[in-house]
Amino acid sequence: MLVIKRRSLVILAGFLACFISLVTLLGAYQNLSQKADIDTTFKVVIDAGHGGIDGGVTGVKSGVFESDLNLTVAKKLATKIEDAGMRAVLTRSSSAGLYGTATSSRKKKDLLKRKEIITSESPNLVISIHMNSFPSSTRRGAQVFFNKDSTISKKLAISIQNNLNDLYGIRDYSALSGDYYLLKCSNYPTVIVECGFLTSPIDDELLNTESFQDELCFNILCGIVEYACNDYK
Ligand SMILES: [Zn+2]
Repeated sequence: MLVIKRRSLVILAGFLACFISLVTLLGAYQNLSQKADIDTTFKVVIDAGHGGIDGGVTGVKSGVFESDLNLTVAKKLATKIEDAGMRAVLTRSSSAGLYGTATSSRKKKDLLKRKEIITSESPNLVISIHMNSFPSSTRRGAQVFFNKDSTISKKLAISIQNNLNDLYGIRDYSALSGDYYLLKCSNYPTVIVECGFLTSPIDDELLNTESFQDELCFNILCGIVEYACNDYK
């Protein structure tokens, strides 16, 4: 069953009001800028982590590869973002890695390709989807990371983290700074969303359930919308 939290509904209602005024403003601006062919649509790059020979973490109960689950969630999130009137671009849309035909330095080439896609898309923000792991199987919940030198990424991370804390309802995680290549490879607001722990049998089962995936993506969308209305300049 799809459970939509009251807080999410309030955020969505706020977003709709904000979005309508944003659309009105954008419409007027688009009329003015049509001749200059300026794209004024809010664009989100969604990066499904891992792929190809790099399967990432494996589900302790399901045996699912993180790379496959990341792609499933990324595609669902893209649909939700487009349904909300924004544009979504995936860094990968198949199970293949982004290192091409390379037989060496695949990880580096994979990451460089992700950077190339992000840079060429000039998005308003970037969401990288991952699944977490931990030595203890009792650790559960979502964890969002940002680059400590990017104030705007931190705001985006906090917004998404709060919505995912509401979704899990088990403990309040704080968004954390992380020293990851993808967070630093461009100046666009970027976060890594670790959607849950595949080392927890409970999270593993939830993350492989379609209704939970829908809720997860809805809550990430709420976080994006909250950020777009309050912090995006
Ligand atoms: Zn990962």
